[in-house]
Amino acid sequence: MKIQEADAKSLLVAQGLPVPTWELARTPAEIKAAAGRFFEAGLARVVIKAQVLVGGRGKAGGVKLAASADEAADVGSRILGMDIKGITVRKVIVAGALDIEKEYYVGAIIDRATRRIVLMASAEGGVEIEEVARQNPGAIHRVSADSELGLLTFQARGLGLAVGLRDTLLSQFVAIAQGLYATMKANDADLVEVNPLAVVTETAADGSRVQKLVCLDAKITLDDSGLARHPGLESLRDNDEEDPTDAQARKLGINFIRLDGSIGCMVNGAGLAMTTMDLVKHYGGEPANFLDVGGGARRETVCGAMELILEDPNVKAILVNIFGGITRGDEVAAGLIEARAAQSREVPMVVRIVGTNAAQAARLLREAHLETATSLDEAAEKAVALARRATR
Ligand code: GDP
Ligand code: MN
Repeated sequence: MKIQEADAKSLLVAQGLPVPTWELARTPAEIKAAAGRFFEAGLARVVIKAQVLVGGRGKAGGVKLAASADEAADVGSRILGMDIKGITVRKVIVAGALDIEKEYYVGAIIDRATRRIVLMASAEGGVEIEEVARQNPGAIHRVSADSELGLLTFQARGLGLAVGLRDTLLSQFVAIAQGLYATMKANDADLVEVNPLAVVTETAADGSRVQKLVCLDAKITLDDSGLARHPGLESLRDNDEEDPTDAQARKLGINFIRLDGSIGCMVNGAGLAMTTMDLVKHYGGEPANFLDVGGGARRETVCGAMELILEDPNVKAILVNIFGGITRGDEVAAGLIEARAAQSREVPMVVRIVGTNAAQAARLLREAHLETATSLDEAAEKAVALARRATR
């Protein structure tokens, strides 16, 4: 689950990271009022940033500076309603704009190969890191945290030194890198990224100028499978931006991923769903989706899953493969029959149900004149043939 910059920043603040204060605003009037408060606090300029779950907002015109409250309202009214990579901007953050001396990149990801949290940093911050990775991969430095001991101080120092930080900025960097690691752990995040991590100059109470590292942007994605352990994080889901298909699948409690083939698949169990897709390909077809209806799938789940499959106009045939354990075959069969009666368009379907209550399932399917198969090979072969016939 992706979360907005403002929420990501809150999670960083909770781990003690240096993030300049910001306010969320949804209307030009709110932007003006928020900007006014920053000017009162003594800042010379404010920054207004679109809150959408995509990167590259700066390049797209979704990040702008303003030198007065009126200008902020004016600039902000143009950002609100803007389309950034297909998403309409509904809210912005307003923050005091700092004078940036240099922009760095720092991020934490999970390296699946080594099963560790890896910290990455680059002196080429501000721009999209994917771009740096393509153009100049040597400019990205990495260090792997220990799975027991975490990100050790010497490791974080090594990373800071590699990007050219020294003295007080280096010790600030160590705390920030360790804070990113802590943010990953505390929230079961997949990714925690700060870009830019900026060097700004602040005037201290005695008038002297001090350099400081601050997190000006934050991007966090949370592991969906970890959300159950963090009930508080569910409220950070942005319903405005969630894909309607994803939202529907989540409501049904199923795993659904749209692909670009023509054979809709409904299977119970992730491993069996993968195998089913492999066999579809083996017989010359292309799966239209990955769908795991889960264990103990009930009638309503089956009906809802069928609707999700049929929403895709590319679907020319449906393959149902159920291995009844906790899931009862007759319950699935009844769901399929119900779904067929209510469905919006006619698509040929082949059903294979084995295991718990398979005999009852077979009888129901026969009575409803649904095409069945005994083996998975037979089912996949039939589905591919049905899809071919339908496209001809
Ligand atoms: P992104 O383009 O979606 O990654 O959005 P960012 O939040 O990274 O903003 C893009 C760029 O705007 C940054 O690289 C900065 O150069 C600039 N920017 C962001 N926040 C501030 C700020 O507080 N002060 C100043 N002067 N520039 C900022
Ligand atoms: Mn950024």
